[in-house]
Amino acid sequence: MIDYNDFEVWFLTGAQLLYGGDAVVAVDGHSNKMVQGLNESGRLPVKVVYKGTVNSAAEVSDAFRKANADPKCVGVITWMHTFSPAKMWIHGLKDFQKPLLHLHTQFNREIPWDTMDMDFMNLNQSAHGDREFGHICARMRVRRKVVVGYWQDPATQDKIAVWMRVCVAWADAQDMLILRFGDQMNNVAVTDGDKVEAEQRLGYHVDYMPFSDVMPYFDAVADKDVDALVAEYFRLYDHDAALEDRSTSGYRKIWNSAKAELTLRAVLKAKGAKGFTTNFDDLGDVNVEQTGRGFDQIPGLASQRLMQEGYGFGAEGDWKSAALFRTVWVMNKGMNGGCSFLEDYTLNFDGKRSAILQAHMLEICPLIADAKPKLEINFLGIGIRKSDTARLVFTSKKGPGCTATIIDLGNRFRLIANDVECIESKPLPKLHVASALWIPMPDFETGAGAWIMAGGTHHSCFSYDLTAEYWEDYAEIAGIEFLHINKDTTLSGFKKELRMNEVYYMLNKALQ
Ligand code: MN
Repeated sequence: MIDYNDFEVWFLTGAQLLYGGDAVVAVDGHSNKMVQGLNESGRLPVKVVYKGTVNSAAEVSDAFRKANADPKCVGVITWMHTFSPAKMWIHGLKDFQKPLLHLHTQFNREIPWDTMDMDFMNLNQSAHGDREFGHICARMRVRRKVVVGYWQDPATQDKIAVWMRVCVAWADAQDMLILRFGDQMNNVAVTDGDKVEAEQRLGYHVDYMPFSDVMPYFDAVADKDVDALVAEYFRLYDHDAALEDRSTSGYRKIWNSAKAELTLRAVLKAKGAKGFTTNFDDLGDVNVEQTGRGFDQIPGLASQRLMQEGYGFGAEGDWKSAALFRTVWVMNKGMNGGCSFLEDYTLNFDGKRSAILQAHMLEICPLIADAKPKLEINFLGIGIRKSDTARLVFTSKKGPGCTATIIDLGNRFRLIANDVECIESKPLPKLHVASALWIPMPDFETGAGAWIMAGGTHHSCFSYDLTAEYWEDYAEIAGIEFLHINKDTTLSGFKKELRMNEVYYMLNKALQ
C-alpha cells in the first residue's frame, strides 16, 4: 500500500560565490558528508538526496521547480553553510509547493579553538547564515519546520524522521480518493464538512458510490475465493470450533462477511481509492435475504481488516476520519504500536483514574490488539440489517499514545490532538466489541473538557507510535489550526488559546 523507499527528501545547501570557487567546492564536500551521514544513521525513514549548493536566485528557483515536478520528492531540507543572501531565495520559496524543513546545524560539532582562522570563518557561517534564511521565511510567512541541533545527534535526526513520515503521508493524501458507501448518518454535524475546501487544503477527494455500482463487484466475487478467505479467518483468529460447521447459520454469516470484504477490496482497488466510509442504514438491496444480493450484515469485519491493510475508514459516512486514518496508517508504517479509528464509547468515573472506553459497534483496527483477536458472531440490532454480524473482538495494548481529529469550523479546519494513556481494561462478557480504555491527558476532566470546548469529534484516529510532534508538522504543512491537549493543558489556558486562534484565523483569512 505504501513503500517509503519510493520517496526522497532533497537537501539543498545555501551558499554564495563571494568566497570563491574553492569555498563552494568545500561546502559541497561537507554537504555530501552530512547527507551520507544522515542516510547512514539508520534513523531516517526516507532517503535524503543531496541536490548541490545553490548560489544564486536562478539556482534556487531551478532547484525548487525541479522539487515541485518530481513525484518522488516529498519535501526539501535547506541548510545554509555560508551566508546565503536571502533575497535570492524569494522567488524559489514563492513557487515552492512541498513541505520545507530548515535545518539549523553546522558541519563541525565544536569550535576548533586552536586552529580557527578567518578562512574557516568565511567557510562555516551557519550560525548567521541560517538566521538570514529564517528571516526571509518569516517575512514571507513560509510554513516550515525548523530543526536545530547537531546533524549527527540522534535527537536532531529523530525530529527530521518525524517530519519525513508526515511528508510521505502528505504526499499520499494529495491523490487520495475516499469512497463513501452511503452518506453521513442523518443530522450528524461533527463528522461533516466542506469537501471542496478539504480537497483544496488537505488534498484528498471524496466521492459517493451508490450500492447499485457496488453490486457488479459483489456478483463477480468467486465462491472459491470466499471459501479461501474464510479458511484464512479460521487460521488467523481464535474462534469457537462450532463456527467451522458449514451447515450452521454462523458459518454462513462468516462466509457472507468474507464476500463483503472481497467486494469492498475489489471496489477500492478498481477505483484506486485509499479509504472509504460506510453507513449502517445503506447496505444495498433491502430484500437481501431473498435475493442473496447485497450485504446481509454491516461489513464490520471487512472494515477492521481493510483498516489493518492500510485503507482509511470512517463509520457513518465520516469521510474526514477515513482520510485521517489513512494518513495515520501511512505515518505509522513499520512502527510497532499500531493505530485505529476509535469512538468515545462510554465513561468510567473513577477519581484520578477516570477514563473513556474507546470502541465502536464493530470497526476497530486489529493493529492495536493486545493479543490474537477472536472472531465472533453476535446479534447487532442497529441499522437496516438487524442481524447476526461477524466481528473481531479484542482488548488493546497498555501504554501512552496520541489521538487526533480534524473538524470543519466553517472558516477553517482545526486539528485537535490529545495525548492519552491506555490503561488495563476489564472483560466485557455482554458487549462483543473490540476496545481500548484510556485516560486523556492531563486528566479526564481537563482532557475531555478541552476536547469538547474545541468542538472535537466523538470519532478519532489513534496511534501508540505517533506523538503530537507529527500532528504539529502535519498542521504546519497543511496550514490548518493545531491544538494539542497534553500534560500541561489547563482549561483556562486552553480557552484563551481558542479565543486567540479565533482572532488569528479571522485576520489570517482577511490577509489571504
Ligand atoms: Mn460512530
